[in-house]
Amino acid sequence: MPKRIETLVLHDSSTPILGDIQKGGSVVVTTIDTLLNQARAHSLWPLTFGLACCAIEMMSTVASRFDLARFGSEAFRATPRQADVMIIAGRLSKKMAPVLRQIYDQMPEPKWVISMGACASSGGVYNNYAIVQGADQVVPVDVYVPGCPPSPDALIYAILKLQEKIKKRKFNKIIELTPRQLEETVV
Ligand code: SF4
Repeated sequence: MPKRIETLVLHDSSTPILGDIQKGGSVVVTTIDTLLNQARAHSLWPLTFGLACCAIEMMSTVASRFDLARFGSEAFRATPRQADVMIIAGRLSKKMAPVLRQIYDQMPEPKWVISMGACASSGGVYNNYAIVQGADQVVPVDVYVPGCPPSPDALIYAILKLQEKIKKRKFNKIIELTPRQLEETVV
């Protein structure tokens, strides 16, 4: 199969020569952006990180009734180094904020954050000295889930929204290497 695709891509013409491709065979021509985005969007690994009552709803998403595995995100990881989406489930206290930030920093790029529930997104009913009034004061948030608590299907909807966002990512950054950098790269 890789040989077939190579034949198509290398022939730069408006009338591609199909080479050895058999009649009725399958060929996929796409961009690397699309390929990477599809893979990332459909294999999100959430970090196991519950802060309060919202976390119970988060746990329910992987149970049989809601079955988050249908969307490729059931592999909750116990270490930030193996996770690429942080779900902030519950109120974030000021004491916990530096810990949350440290865990976020330990996650490899690319990474995303879902703020689950009114407390995580805005402090909710806890408008007091102890609670951070919005997790986006500590880490960048990609998707907010409203509600107290949001239902498991609301969290699944947020993951679907995050998947849409990931699929729109573009890797069009051009990196120019100076001659010296080029030499180092070749060596
Ligand atoms: S939003 Fe509601 S359910 Fe979630 S942590 Fe706050 S009080 Fe608990």
